[in-house]
Amino acid sequence: MSKTKCVGILTSGGDAPGMNAAIRAVTRSAIYNGLEVKGIYRGYKGMITDEIVPFKTSNVSNIIQQGGTILKTARCKEFMDPAGRQTAYEIIQKHGIDSLVVIGGDGSLTGARIFAQEFNLPIIGVPGTIDNDLYGTDRTIGYDTALNTVMDAVDKIRDTATSHERLFFIEIMGRDAGFLALNGAIASGAEAAIIPEIFTEVDQLEDLIKNGFRKSKNSSIVLVAESEITGGAMGMAERVKKEYPEYDVRVTILGHLQRGGSPTASDRILASRMGAASIDALLEDQRNVMIGIQNDQIIYTPFSKAIKNDKPIDRNLLNMLRVLSI
Ligand code: ADP
Repeated sequence: MSKTKCVGILTSGGDAPGMNAAIRAVTRSAIYNGLEVKGIYRGYKGMITDEIVPFKTSNVSNIIQQGGTILKTARCKEFMDPAGRQTAYEIIQKHGIDSLVVIGGDGSLTGARIFAQEFNLPIIGVPGTIDNDLYGTDRTIGYDTALNTVMDAVDKIRDTATSHERLFFIEIMGRDAGFLALNGAIASGAEAAIIPEIFTEVDQLEDLIKNGFRKSKNSSIVLVAESEITGGAMGMAERVKKEYPEYDVRVTILGHLQRGGSPTASDRILASRMGAASIDALLEDQRNVMIGIQNDQIIYTPFSKAIKNDKPIDRNLLNMLRVLSI
């Protein structure tokens, strides 16, 4: 029998569309299974500042279609210190919370792992990030919506790029991961993606230009993953201006619009499944694991593995992008 009676739920770090669908699923599954639920506002910060309220099924009505997170999210420096975590633990104890579901990215799950170890608290992680960069799951909540947003934006930029015969660098979010840039390029028919995963292996810009990427094209669109390694779209444009001045270069940085919007059906379903699975995991006495999905099956990955291992990018997709852009 599980010892869980009262689950605290929070969203932390970067927000992602579909987090609300996950909050709804966690809340409703917990209540269905006879557990109490407490909503913790502003991520780890809300544990320290005591922003914790009881959640009923009505608290999560009419939110499945909303982007962002009704619980708000934050980055919390105090939680990086043992003293801050001690305060957080005392406050959640006062509220009767005996287990946590943390929805967030890599940093949030790192915090969860440390907190769980220090206080012997069962915590289940739910991967919520548009970057898709967590090991132990094929997809993260928010990734599909962001990918569709990128595709729509690139479609629009293509209209103007074609009219002017320009080379466009479009910067895509991803925090050192190229999943959004690579798959965004495939989905929008872009000519190439420049991603950090292979940056040190090949000079992707030189490769692109030497391979005559404009042979049969009026315009070219290249998606560049934001990263210090790639220098982003601005870094690429600077290089082209110096090394290949014959090109008329333009830069667009998509920025925070990639985080917004109503989640796609795929993200809502993923978030619902993962949220419900987090309560199943607690009821099975699982602890300190991240919920993931692989081959359409729910799986559990220990925090230590989910955080430490790099999720590999499929290099066949890069080759395919090159083939399809001739
Ligand atoms: P994301 O979850 O989107 O990767 P961050 O990396 O900003 O976002 O992390 C979110 C929060 O998780 C941080 O503000 C901090 O409160 C907590 N956190 C991250 N790393 C640690 C750590 N090493 N120890 C304790 N808490 C951490």
